[in-house]
Amino acid sequence: MLVMKFGGSSVGDAKCFAQVVQIVQEAYAKDREIVVVVSAMSGVTNKLIACAQAAARGEHETYQRIKAELLSRHLETVAALELDPKIRLDVCSLIEDRLYDLERWCRSVAILRELTPRGLDLISSLGERLSVAMLAGALSTAGLKSQPVEATSLVVTDDNFGEATPLMDETQARVQATLVPMLRRGCIPVVTGFMGATKEGVITTLGRGGSDYTAAILGAVLKADEIQIWTDVDGILTADPRIVPEAQTLPEVTFREAAELSYFGAKVLHPKTVMPAAELGIPLRIVNTFNHKHPGTLLVHTLSSANSAAKAVTQIKDLSLITVEGRGMLGVPGIAARTFAAVARRGVNVLMISQSSSEQNICFVVPAARSQTVLASLRQELELEIARRNVERISSVDDVAIMAVIGSGMCHTPGMAGRIFTALGAEGINILAVAQGSSDCNLSVVISRQDADNATRAIHRDVLMPVRSE
Ligand code: ADP
Ligand code: ASP
Ligand code: MG
Repeated sequence: MLVMKFGGSSVGDAKCFAQVVQIVQEAYAKDREIVVVVSAMSGVTNKLIACAQAAARGEHETYQRIKAELLSRHLETVAALELDPKIRLDVCSLIEDRLYDLERWCRSVAILRELTPRGLDLISSLGERLSVAMLAGALSTAGLKSQPVEATSLVVTDDNFGEATPLMDETQARVQATLVPMLRRGCIPVVTGFMGATKEGVITTLGRGGSDYTAAILGAVLKADEIQIWTDVDGILTADPRIVPEAQTLPEVTFREAAELSYFGAKVLHPKTVMPAAELGIPLRIVNTFNHKHPGTLLVHTLSSANSAAKAVTQIKDLSLITVEGRGMLGVPGIAARTFAAVARRGVNVLMISQSSSEQNICFVVPAARSQTVLASLRQELELEIARRNVERISSVDDVAIMAVIGSGMCHTPGMAGRIFTALGAEGINILAVAQGSSDCNLSVVISRQDADNATRAIHRDVLMPVRSE
């Protein structure tokens, strides 16, 4: 049994759909139990979000224009897919109906001038609901038995809209009841990625890029033989090829390394994808839809060959570095706990923490969009310490990036940090903070956002490539 997930870049136009059909056909010839998970066509989720936001500002013309663009893009793609005439009629009317719904939802948002997280999930998950109908139609036209499935009836989640967590037991029961009988009949379910629903049936989403996670959830509950993430690059590379064109495929990556890589910005995999597969030891492979003979990257527990110390470099931009400092913090218990409690109360995610050994400062990184909220919350929490001068300054440096160098052998290899710092120093890049993951497999530095691409290229050229050939 195979779970094959095709991302937005794999279903960007009719030609891409045809490529996907060919890949599924080939897989079906070998393994008759296949679940397909599919994302919205590339760029569609962004447009849906823009549509909802325009509606919230009361911009009727903007959301109507975006809706019209989405309608013509999908209908043009369907026309080019040359579906069986009966299927084509059904798919076209589904697209028209769903986009009519979009317009109605946006009108309601515009009247209320309020976009709730729940409303945003309803709107932003619409693209997946269109692409499953298109792909299932294309597979059926190609002679495979196939059926679109909306994950609202399958992936049960909590109601944390925008970043919902799956409830695995409930999901397992639904999958057993609906997907398994389809698989037994030799039918290929084409499931919407990214979305789920609460027990009550209210639509939720799993976070941006969440279709990878859908594939992992289904792979785990079905105990699949392999989960395949089909995308537009030859697997996990040593760096983002858009920044480092000479980046190379890593044939094997440990689950842990992959988790670190995706956490620190490698968009090729949604960070939560790794866990369900790792727990059950299900092989997870990242492969290229447009170069499907390439073996891509396999995620494993233990590497088959000797591990190179540093494997890949990633970055996350649009962050802020928050610093809490004061000589009076020395030895005062509880300041760190209260600092992070104050951040957590505002629901802000902390990406990296570093504390100087003299205990005179704590610094940590948060998304730039939340830095003002964090500062306000800290000033309120530490009001007394500020008045007593135990805390002298709470400040933020905006426009920073984290660059992380990842590899399981890294922290056991003497001199790695030195090589990284030397490479950055040679480029004249200033390091604002450093953290070495206790997980032993990453070293991350905070640098100015404008240095991020240069730093990534320098590390790739001066550290990763030489280490690979050692
Ligand atoms: P999909 O539409 O298939 O979900 P994504 O755009 O979400 O694809 O992810 C694939 C992209 O991730 C690649 O095109 C690449 O630019 C980016 N990426 C970032 N870091 C890496 C990396 N280390 N290895 C491979 N791809 C990466
Ligand atoms: N379509 C969703 C997004 O763009 C989910 C995904 O592509 O994985 O975030
Ligand atoms: Mg993706």
